[in-house]
This record gives sequence, C-alpha cells and structure tokens, in this order.
Amino acid sequence: MPNIEYHMTKFRSIFWHRRDLRIEDNIGLFEASENSKSLIGVYVLDPNLLNLNRTTSEAKNWFLGESLLELQKNWKNRGSCLLILKGDPIKLIPKLAELIKAECIYWNKNIEPYEINRDKEITGQLSKEKRKVYTFLDQLIVNPSNIKTNNEEPYKVYGPFYRKWIDIINKKNLSYNNLIQISVTAKKFTGPDESELTSIKNSDLNYCITSKSKHIYDLLTSNRFKNTNLCPCKPGESESQKQLNFFIHSGAINIYNNARDIPSLEKTSNLSAALSLGTISCRAVWNGAQVSKNMTADNYKINSIDTWIKELAWREFYQNALFNFPELEKGPYREKWLNFPWQNRSDWIDSWENGLTGIPIVDAAMRQLKVSGWMHNRCRMIVASFLVKDLLIDWRLGELFFMKSLVDGDLASNNGGWQWSASSGMDPKPMRIFNPSRQASKFDEDGNYIRKWIPELSHISTPNLLSGEIISAERNGYPKPIINHKNQTSIFKELYSNLK
Ligand SMILES: Cc1cc2nc3c(=O)[nH]c(=O)nc-3n(C[C@H](O)[C@H](O)[C@H](O)COP(=O)(O)OP(=O)(O)OC[C@H]3O[C@@H](n4cnc5c(N)ncnc54)[C@H](O)[C@@H]3O)c2cc1C
Repeated sequence: MPNIEYHMTKFRSIFWHRRDLRIEDNIGLFEASENSKSLIGVYVLDPNLLNLNRTTSEAKNWFLGESLLELQKNWKNRGSCLLILKGDPIKLIPKLAELIKAECIYWNKNIEPYEINRDKEITGQLSKEKRKVYTFLDQLIVNPSNIKTNNEEPYKVYGPFYRKWIDIINKKNLSYNNLIQISVTAKKFTGPDESELTSIKNSDLNYCITSKSKHIYDLLTSNRFKNTNLCPCKPGESESQKQLNFFIHSGAINIYNNARDIPSLEKTSNLSAALSLGTISCRAVWNGAQVSKNMTADNYKINSIDTWIKELAWREFYQNALFNFPELEKGPYREKWLNFPWQNRSDWIDSWENGLTGIPIVDAAMRQLKVSGWMHNRCRMIVASFLVKDLLIDWRLGELFFMKSLVDGDLASNNGGWQWSASSGMDPKPMRIFNPSRQASKFDEDGNYIRKWIPELSHISTPNLLSGEIISAERNGYPKPIINHKNQTSIFKELYSNLK
C-alpha cells in the first residue's frame, strides 16, 4: 500500500487526473478522498500531449473526450466536481492550488520522460508555496524500482523480466483466489465549499466545469468517431469494465492462445486504449484473468489465460524499459542503427500509410488503422516489418504515423513495438523479417481479414489474395505491388551487414 502520513486534520485538496481516467480502483484518488476535508478534481488538456502532428490522433482525442465526459459525471455523482483546464500544467496546477488555497495536491505518477520532468517542475513550485504533493504508483502492477536483476540492474530482455515480474506478484500478500488486494474504491467526496467555487468562478482560469465543457467538445466536434462503432476500443470507465467482462465471460480469454493471432476473429480484449488512458486499472485486468482461471480446470484454457497475462507483462516491460532508459524515446537502443542508410522514399511512405502498397495483408492492416483507429497486433508486426525491412524506411516515421493514427497510441508500447520490429531495441534479432504472404497464409488462411478491409479484392481466389499475385484484369483499381519482397530484403540484409 502507498506510504502516506495520515493526518488528524484533513485538508483542502486537489486530485489531478492524468492517465487514470476513472474513479474506481484509483490509488491516488482513494488516498486523496480519505485524507481531505474538501476535494476537487482536475484534468489538464496539455497541448504537448494533444498535438495531432506528433502525440495524438483523432481516435485518441475521441476516446479521451468521451472518457472525460463520463468522469465529470462520476465526480458530480460523488458530490464534487472535475475541472477541465486547457494549457500548460506547469502554470495551471500551481495557479489552481493558489486560487482555492489547496493545501495538498495528489496525483498518480507516470513513467514518460516529458511527464517526469514536467512533474518535477510542478512539485518544486508547489513545495515552494508550502503545499504538500502526494504521488502514487498506480498504472503498473509492479513498481519498476522493484524489478531488478541480481546485479541490481534493470532488465533489458523480456523473458527474464517476465519471470521476475510474475514472481514478485506471486510473492505479494495474496488473499482470496489470487486477486491482488490493492484494489481500492473511492466513495463519496466532499465537494468544494462556496468560497472555493467563488474563487474559481472569479478567476481567469480557462476552465470548464459542466458536462457542456467547451474544451471537451473541442476534442469531439467534427470527430468522425463520435457516435459510431468504427473503433473497437470503447471509451469511459463503465464501457472499459464491460469490455473486460465480455472478454472474460464470452470465453474469449479461454481461447486466446490460438485466437489472438487471427485478426479476422476479433477475439482479443481491445483494452489497450483503456489501459493506456486508465479508464480501467491494471489490477482490474489482472484480477479478471485470475477470476477466469478460477472458473476452469482445463489446461488449454489456463494456458490461454497465462498467455494473455504475458501480454499484460509486455505492457509493463515496455514501460519499465522507457522508465529506465528514457533515451529510447529519441531513437534506437542499439547505436549501430543510427548509421543505417534509410532510403525513406516519400512515394513508398505514402503508399504504406494509405494502404496502397499492392501487398494485400499490409494494405488491409493499414486500412483497418485508417478506418478504425486500431490495428490487430499480428498486423502491427507485419506492417512494421514491411516498412523497415522491405521499404527501407526509418522505423521512427512508422512510429510517428502510428501515434498520429492509433486510439491506443502510447509512447512506451509503441516505441517498444517499433524497436522490436526494427530490431533496433533491447532484444536484437536483426534478421527477424516477416514475409507478408507467408504471414497472410498462416494467420488469414481464408483471406477473411483481407476481404473485409480491401473490398475491391473480394472476388479474388484465396491463394491469389494471400500471395498477392493478382492479374491486372482482376485488380479492380487495386495497385500492383510496389516492391518485390525477396529483392528488397536482400538489399536490407546487405545494408545491415555493412553497418559498423
Ligand atoms: C509496431 C507496434 C506498435 C504498437 N503500438 C502500441 C501502442 O501504441 N499502444 C499499445 O497499447 N500497444 C501497442 N502495441 C502492442 C499491441 O499491438 C496492442 O497493445 C494490442 O494489439 C492491443 O489490442 P488488445 O487490447 O486487444 O490486446 P490483447 O491481446 O487483449 O492484450 C491485452 C493487453 O496487453 C497489452 N499488450 C498486448 N500486446 C502487447 C505488446 N506487444 N506490447 C505492449 N503491450 C501489449 C495491451 O495493453 C493490451 O490491451 C504495438 C505493437 C506493435 C508491434
């Protein structure tokens, strides 16, 4: 449990939501609600994290906006309110604290370099003004500071990391049915008093307090995801919980071992955006997996659930990696890759981004991303390998495009996924090259996924669809392949072998 000094006197406090857009099972919020005589919530729309050319996407903005609307309602139902501010948190958080004379400010920590530096600055300012700052680790099951090798170093390879991670969890004080008992539920809050509300109202803070919040509507107006089912990730705390329940009770978790690699089955949890923005807690998903395990004695099902838990561990691995090696954000972990002579042909980048490379499995995946804001994991690996090892394009351009397109765009997981695919990361296998047609034959053997996303090819026979060998007369406007896989990958291998 977080270590906090408990006070006899309770204080006026602010809880700052960041990547924890929920009320339930929110460690920092629980602590704030227990220790405050008056508690107000705040979320800051930070332009650094909302840059559509760099850090966010239309889909992610929609997910964020809808989740904030629900969060505002939940704060109101609990007897207080959530302010939505827009601007630089370094200025806004201390200013808000001053306005309402808040004595304590609570938040849950993040692991990304920008946020760590920003928070340091804000903490410094608040402390100077004699306000207390309480921070908690909420977004990871195991604290990164506790996962060290025998030499007290951070792990660089997933396998040993996973063994240590699961070992730590298993050694925690587990009670009933292996659930992690750090689950906390925030109850009623004591809302701001009249004088606090008046200071906010009279202030020049560009705030929004009602559910008609202009700032939120800015995220949502003209957003093509609004009121549609285009994206499989559903925003908001209640929908995230429903999604987890569905994944468990529909039995999808029990067949995950085989189903997870077949994109047309759509049997993964779709919880990535919820985990990234914190509309669900990492403990809730862990507990969901344990509940599923306790409902079965079937080895195949138990194995499947364990495979899913290993995916949750990948998320934690990449967050640990970025926390311990913040330089990953800027470029390759293996410096040798800085010298790779990328060809970066802009016409090829265009074709890749628009699903027009002439390689059906790649194009189907890129069109899924474009339309839905999400892409299946197997396909993320296929398109990433193709961009880097077939098109010889710097993986950082792919990483950026994903951030600008994904609903679940997350610096740690995205960077980790791209560095894994490019072989520039911690787990280097330079010759890991995916053959697109072999991947298609293995994971989309009936061509259902390709047909769904490239309807103009629906009449093509399955073998031709998978191999991409389609005669001109049958192309129906679909382009010819822009490259030959064998030729391109031999160029890649040669360029790689010349690297010093
Ligand atoms: C090039 C590339 C880029 C990626 N970019 C992102 C990203 O920006 N954000 C993101 O959340 N995931 C990213 N991933 C990981 C993965 O593709 C998605 O997490 C997954 O497809 C989400 O679908 P799901 O929620 O149905 O996952 P499930 O299969 O149900 O897995 C459960 C959860 O485990 C985590 N997870 C699963 N696989 C991975 C993985 N390989 N790495 C890290 N966490 C994982 C996610 O939080 C996911 O929601 C990327 C993978 C690659 C190869």
